[in-house]
Amino acid sequence: MEIKAPRGVRDILPDESWKWAYVMNVAAKTMADYGFSEVHLPLFEHTELFSRGVGETTDIVEKEMYTFTDRGDRSITLRPEATAGMTRAALEHGMCAQGSAAKLWCWGPMFRYERPQKGRYRQFYQIDAEFLGTAGPMADVEIIDLSAELFRRLGLRNLEAVINSVGCPKCRPVYREALLKHFEGHKEELCEDCLSRMERNPLRILDCKKPGCGAVADAAPAIYEFLCDECREHYEEVKAGLERLGIPYRQDKRLVRGLDYYTKTAFEILSGDLGAQNAVCGGGRYDNLSESIGGPHLPSVGFACGMDRVVLVMEEQGCSFGRAPHAAVYVAALDASARGAAQKLTHDLRQAGLAAEQDVAGRSFKAQMKAAGASGAEWTCILGPEELEKGVAAVKNMGDGTQENVPLAEVPAYIAGRIK
Ligand code: AMP
Repeated sequence: MEIKAPRGVRDILPDESWKWAYVMNVAAKTMADYGFSEVHLPLFEHTELFSRGVGETTDIVEKEMYTFTDRGDRSITLRPEATAGMTRAALEHGMCAQGSAAKLWCWGPMFRYERPQKGRYRQFYQIDAEFLGTAGPMADVEIIDLSAELFRRLGLRNLEAVINSVGCPKCRPVYREALLKHFEGHKEELCEDCLSRMERNPLRILDCKKPGCGAVADAAPAIYEFLCDECREHYEEVKAGLERLGIPYRQDKRLVRGLDYYTKTAFEILSGDLGAQNAVCGGGRYDNLSESIGGPHLPSVGFACGMDRVVLVMEEQGCSFGRAPHAAVYVAALDASARGAAQKLTHDLRQAGLAAEQDVAGRSFKAQMKAAGASGAEWTCILGPEELEKGVAAVKNMGDGTQENVPLAEVPAYIAGRIK
C-alpha cells in the first residue's frame, strides 16, 4: 500500500508555499522594525523543559506532547511551543545577564497531539516573539502592538484583541479559592474534564468551551477584584498603553490560556473568519518561567502567532500575497540543433538574476510556445538555425507581441533593462 502522511500533518505545496514566504518576509521586516532579532532553535528539547516550564497539569503536557526516549535513554520531546525553548536558549547563552533584556523571534514547526480539524494540526507553524528580561507594562504593550502591526501589514481584517490579567503567585491563590467556592456550588453542571480541573487547575474551567461549563464560568467571579496592587496597576497601565496607541481591545475575564507559565497580562487575537479555532495569536507575560526551569528571575512577555491559520484567514479574506513566482523569460528551441544554445542562454539569463525557463524534454516548438504562454513569462527567446547562424536570439515581448533580433551575449542585459 502506498504510504501516506500521518494524521494531522500536511504538506505545504507550491500553490501555498509562496504565500508562506510572503508572510515570512512581512514578519521578518516587522520584527526588525520593532528591534527583534531572529534565532533558530532546536525542534526537540529535554522533556523536563516543558513539564516544568509549561506546567504538569496543562493539556499540552498531560496529553499532547510527542515524547520519546532516544538511543541514549534520555526523554526527549518535540517542542509543543517556543517560549520555553527561547527562555532556555537566552539563559544558556547569557543573553539576559546583568539585567539586560533580549528581544528575540523565531518561527518554525510545533508539535501537539491534538484532534485535527480545520486550522488545527499536529504539526503546525508559529511565528514567535519574546521580550525577555523586562518587567514593566510597556513591554507588554510593545508585544501586543507588534502582533497587531504584523496583522495590519498582512492586510487582515475582522480581528479582535482580547486581554485579561491572570494575576501572580501572590493574588492568584486567593482568586483560585473564590473560584473553587463558586464551582463547588455548580458541580453537577460541569463536564468530566472540568471536574478533574477543579482539583488540579480550576482557572482552566474558565476556558472550557462546553455550554454547561460556559454558563457556570460566565457567572464566576472576575479576577479583577482579586488582583494585588502590583498586578492591578500593571493591568491598568497595559490598557492605558493600548489606548494611547489606538489599539482596540476587549476585556475577557474568562481568558486564561492553556499554559501555566502566564502571570499578569494574557492576550489573544481572534479572527471572525475561522470558526471554532479562531485564535490567530496568543501570548502574555510569564515572569516565573525562567525560575521554574532552574534560571534566575527573568520577567518576560511574548506571543505566538499561528502561521497556518494566518494564511487560511488571508486566503478567505482575499488578502494580497504579492505575485506568485513565475518565469520572466522562456527560452524556446526551434529544432534539435538549437537546444544546446537554448540551454546556454537560459543559464546566462539565470546568472544575470532573471527567472528563466526552458524545455529539457525535447518537445516540439509548438509545445514549447504553449508552455511559454502558460508560464506567464513576459519574454520569450527563440533560437533556431537562422538565429544561430547570425549569433542572435529572436526576443519576443509577450505583452505586445513585438519581436527583435538581439545578439546572444546582449540578451540578458536587453531583457533586464526592459523588465517591468
Ligand atoms: P498557544 O501556543 O497555544 O498559545 O497558541 C498560539 C497560536 O498558535 C494560536 O493562537 C494558534 O494560532 C496557533 N496554534 C496553536 N495550536 C495549533 C494547532 N494545533 N494547529 C494550528 N495552529 C495552532
